[in-house]
Amino acid sequence: MTLLAVAEAGKGLLEADAPVLHADDEGVLRGRAVFETIRVYDGAPFRLEAHLDRLDASAAQLGLPPVERGLLRTAALAALAASQERNVVLRLLWTPGREGSGRATGLALVSTLPGGHDELRARGLRLAVVTWSPGTLVAGVKSTSYAENIAAQAHAARHGADDALFVDPGGVVLEAPTSNVWWREGDRLVTPALALPILAGVTRAVLVESLPELGFELEEGAFPLARPLAADEVLLSSSVREVMPVVAIDDAPIGDGRPGHAAAALQRALRAAAGYPEAG
Ligand code: PLP
Repeated sequence: MTLLAVAEAGKGLLEADAPVLHADDEGVLRGRAVFETIRVYDGAPFRLEAHLDRLDASAAQLGLPPVERGLLRTAALAALAASQERNVVLRLLWTPGREGSGRATGLALVSTLPGGHDELRARGLRLAVVTWSPGTLVAGVKSTSYAENIAAQAHAARHGADDALFVDPGGVVLEAPTSNVWWREGDRLVTPALALPILAGVTRAVLVESLPELGFELEEGAFPLARPLAADEVLLSSSVREVMPVVAIDDAPIGDGRPGHAAAALQRALRAAAGYPEAG
């Protein structure tokens, strides 16, 4: 992703390459900051308020000052207005700032979309299973301590996969490092429950809303890996990658080994919810 524009809460637009954080910012020194990643469709950040809600909840979990929502929203809109492109990624960062300063910093970053998603959607992802025991604090919090998530993705890549699938030490399926996971069993879509240590995906919530209209039942719970392995299809959901079909887990093909119809229907439903056409 290439950075296109940056704005700071309370200060407004900055030069995209301007230094903005101090060396002793706790977010940098300790990974004690929170963030959100939001898809922007034709200039409009999708479900911005839901992302601000989650940012604020994550900040509260880590004991950070409450998010100054109005200032951060204004900064986000300023950064988007300054961006040349309209289909982009908006990231929000809320960090407690310099040690002992008591003055938090909020940043809004607009970047280009990562390339290749349509091709990946057409061929489907291959996942590698990674055993994962999230800490009690970090589970479900979008903190900047994502080093383990990124390491899991690197592990998957070393094993010829596109992404990781987290399974807890007891064998319960959780999520992917930056996405929620789903699978289809006939007319039922199954996904790990939010009571598990997973992130409450904004995309997950949009898809849950769309299921009745698409004729799917929803089942949420704690499930062993055998369930997605035996499913008709598997898919991931996230703001940036949207709905991604999964065609193999640890080299075992899922269903007929090709992207399935539920993934395609959910991708269309997501784009419809965003008011943005599927092919774009
Ligand atoms: N799970 C994790 C661990 C994530 O980091 C993300 C997003 O980055 C998701 C799930 C999907 O969340 P959302 O749909 O809000 O992008």
